[in-house]
Amino acid sequence: MLINTTNKEEFVFEVHQRLSELYGRDIKYFHDLDPLSELVSTLLSHRTKNRDSGQAFTNLMDAFGSWENVRDAPTEEVQAAIAPCTWPEQKAPRIQQVLRLLTEKHGVLNLSFLADMEVRAARQWLEELPGVGPKSSAAVMSFSSLRAKALPVDSHHFRVAVRLGIIDAKIGEGKANRVLEDLLPPDFTAQEVYDNHQVMMRHGQKVCFHYKPDCNNCVLLDVCPTGQKTVNL
Ligand code: SF4
Repeated sequence: MLINTTNKEEFVFEVHQRLSELYGRDIKYFHDLDPLSELVSTLLSHRTKNRDSGQAFTNLMDAFGSWENVRDAPTEEVQAAIAPCTWPEQKAPRIQQVLRLLTEKHGVLNLSFLADMEVRAARQWLEELPGVGPKSSAAVMSFSSLRAKALPVDSHHFRVAVRLGIIDAKIGEGKANRVLEDLLPPDFTAQEVYDNHQVMMRHGQKVCFHYKPDCNNCVLLDVCPTGQKTVNL
């Protein structure tokens, strides 16, 4: 099929369609946490395997039972509970700092008010918290029970988008969240935006590897400048 690779919106849509054929549509959300729990989960997950950050999250709940108790606990105890994730010595004080700030800003430890805000405004609000960038704010809005329309871009997603020539690597993962989201069809539902996050990430995990991408078995080879160069070497 001939596609217009110079119109980025069309190109992004074609990539989405092909990858959705491969990895599926209406992909099941992997979490159903309230937004505050999703925020803590996101802070734990930075540079950590899902299994380990999931264990750290479970440990926190088992040990303290509520975010108020996590906020007020001795930091060493929080650090011990989240030991399965990377940098527990940095994440424990950061999580407590965020919980204290939320209490100061909002009075209670609950982020359900974000549901009444416009998504961009809610993300901006979240990004004023320490350690919360565009990927984390998008994750809270999309993955939590808010199920809002926001596109988190992880390192796999970013790599695939760069190799396809959709974005320049120089913009960095932070800015890529907004740029890539703005290239999606405006009428995409929150589920379709989530699907886009999932299919791009899965493609990076299963085919477009960091080292030695499997271009010969890639459904995007005919439209990928990096793949074309690789297979023609
Ligand atoms: S053709 Fe190669 S570089 Fe391009 S998206 Fe596919 S695996 Fe990645």
